[in-house]
Amino acid sequence: MAQKDMTRELIDLHIHVGGAVAPHILWAIAHQGGFKLPVKSYFEFVDLITASPDKVGSLDEYLKIMHTWTEKIQSSPMAIERSVYEVIGKEYRSSRVTQIELRFNPMKRNLHSELDLDHIIHAAIRGMEKAMLEYNVKACLIFCLAREFDHKLNAIIVDKAIKYRNRGVRGIDLAGTEAHAIELKPEVVAQYEDLFDRARKAGLKSTVHTGETRGTGAEGVIAVLEKLKPDRIGHGIRAAYDEQAMKLLKERDVVLELCPTSNLQTKAVDGIKELEHIIRTFWDRGVKLTINTDGPYLLNTDMRREIDMVETNRILTPEQIDQTLAWAREYSFIPKS
Ligand SMILES: [Zn+2]
Repeated sequence: MAQKDMTRELIDLHIHVGGAVAPHILWAIAHQGGFKLPVKSYFEFVDLITASPDKVGSLDEYLKIMHTWTEKIQSSPMAIERSVYEVIGKEYRSSRVTQIELRFNPMKRNLHSELDLDHIIHAAIRGMEKAMLEYNVKACLIFCLAREFDHKLNAIIVDKAIKYRNRGVRGIDLAGTEAHAIELKPEVVAQYEDLFDRARKAGLKSTVHTGETRGTGAEGVIAVLEKLKPDRIGHGIRAAYDEQAMKLLKERDVVLELCPTSNLQTKAVDGIKELEHIIRTFWDRGVKLTINTDGPYLLNTDMRREIDMVETNRILTPEQIDQTLAWAREYSFIPKS
């Protein structure tokens, strides 16, 4: 195997705690917490919590693994603290990621309100701060609202993000399955308008998962840009097929968080050729983009491999990749100083 190029310092803006913790760590956490697992051996467990091509054919199947197992195992202060700590250390060691924005939904870690949300959040912050100190890296947390949650629950997540904005929580995200068709119905997008307004006024940044899956079109990206006014968009790859959406992305100076391996694994794109077409189209139209992991363990990747993949397939030149890293730093939710 070729020696990994570790000279570049990398930055990951789009990585979910639910898809980023190593199986052996989750295994240890599950046992420490007395969690009842459906499998007996470690190797069956690895199979259970990773997305192999024969198991995952869509975004929903991918999300199911995350919701059924990893999020549940991470549902305690001990578990989330260790998870956040381990993710930051691992991305630094494997890829020299010196700046990382970790996202998760705290309400998917408190066992349907059996656990206190503030304890979960404090634990995540502790894990983050410990890793920042040990590895001398920059990090922040982004709280994900869930499309499948009602307005009241999502409002609580925004309240918590605001409460902890001076403790390392820098933004909010909207995530989850696109089966609820946020893409196609601008009125669905409108339900989140007040929440994103409130977060913005409180000084938080925002990003939204949209335009990810096939068949969703670019309407969702346009509706999100107009109504939610995010600083960045998660994926947004469908916009590459719509001139108006790309024009709007440029005008609003919104940066895309692309996750190449994720899109290949969830079959959001046909293959490398389509990926190349999408990334080149954005580049040619002047739409700013960044490269990210989404869920390194769930998808069997890391930041170094994402960059290598884009480079060795000649989708972007090394200079263009340096530009995407510069954009990632410029549009990071972590303050510069
Ligand atoms: Zn994502």
